Amino acid sequence: MSTVSFLNIGMHGYINPTLPVVAELARRGHTVTYHTSPTFAAQIETAGAKVHLYSGGDLPLPNPPIPLAMLEELARTALGLLPGVLSDLRSTRPDLIVHGAACPWGAVAARELGVPAAATFTTFAFNRQVPSPTGISRELLAAAAARPRLGWGYVRARWALHRGYDTRALPLTDLMNAREPLNLVFTSSAFQPGADAFDSSYRFVGASVGSRPTDPGFDAVRLTDPVLYASLGTVFDAGPALLRTFATALAPLGGTVVVSTGHTEPADLGPLPANVLVRRSVPQLQVLDRAALFVTHGGMNSVNEAMRAGVPTLVVPQGADQPLVARRVVELGAGLALRTDDATAETVHALARSLLDEPRFREAAAAQRAAQRQAGGARRAADELERYLDDARGGTATDRARGR
Ligand code: UDP
Repeated sequence: MSTVSFLNIGMHGYINPTLPVVAELARRGHTVTYHTSPTFAAQIETAGAKVHLYSGGDLPLPNPPIPLAMLEELARTALGLLPGVLSDLRSTRPDLIVHGAACPWGAVAARELGVPAAATFTTFAFNRQVPSPTGISRELLAAAAARPRLGWGYVRARWALHRGYDTRALPLTDLMNAREPLNLVFTSSAFQPGADAFDSSYRFVGASVGSRPTDPGFDAVRLTDPVLYASLGTVFDAGPALLRTFATALAPLGGTVVVSTGHTEPADLGPLPANVLVRRSVPQLQVLDRAALFVTHGGMNSVNEAMRAGVPTLVVPQGADQPLVARRVVELGAGLALRTDDATAETVHALARSLLDEPRFREAAAAQRAAQRQAGGARRAADELERYLDDARGGTATDRARGR
């Protein structure tokens, strides 16, 4: 049995798909550790890992939420965290490090310790069709010119990283794309644009969803079909108006309309029709199992989870990679997209009606469901990691016996 150490940044979207992989590895008898911040500790411990907390509490989110600020934040955070992380890992002595592709200190730690590493992608894997937000681009350079403090902050932190550590595994700027010899991508190759062009280090393992803790408060709620679900995820704070638009647009079409409000207080949506159920957070997998339609911001996890459940989506992107996700959903026919500026009760109602009435959307979503299930999910991810561990040790006992 092996010791596997996970490291990640502090965002639900990045951590969620790794939890079922942690649980699967622990179930198979491996020792799993996870470096994280306090917000995520309980969840990760429940999945079966021993938690190491980063020094300094919760990791700040980039401010403003633009790729350049993310870059500067990642480089500075790496500098601050690496001494503690390395000291923890020296006593853990992992056989394998698994880090988020946006967690550069995981890549550096693996190099420093001479431990094999794998990266996890919670977004699409990056290529020409899906450029990484932190790859060198005209936009990134323009942002650096417009915000020299951030630009120079990045250069200083990146240089200090280079002087202090083995940063050969790190791209020059593309710190959200720290690849390894094994890259696990939590979507299906059918959903990934241009999947054929990736080399064999990329494994498209599909949505990684496991059993999540049940919410007894929600279990008691009676849902009436058709269940229509709306959520803008856990990061973006669109405010109550857009969520209210979804609720009022969907209410006449639904049995129960479920709205997850995230950062917004449910009461701020104001009075709503009786069939609308509003919560800060809902057990999304459970709701998707019943849902006929999902109005989503197009977070990669949410869309993967919707496809895994075969639910057509109306994607209203709020930022980050969500416009790309929206475009791909539309390309594959598994849903429709709408810009936030165009999202009125009328447009949302009309598009939701098409998604419910026209069978082609359900059929395309069913095809994506099949692709996601075939990709293998968390079990496949655990298989890939075990195989990689075996290869790093010089092949499995069987391989060695066969002289491979
Ligand atoms: N989620 C949930 N309940 C909610 C809202 C979100 O369980 O009420 C989960 C959802 O299942 C997904 C994650 O939070 O796994 C959101 O990740 P995503 O990448 O979709 O969006 P982000 O929140 O990172 O923008």
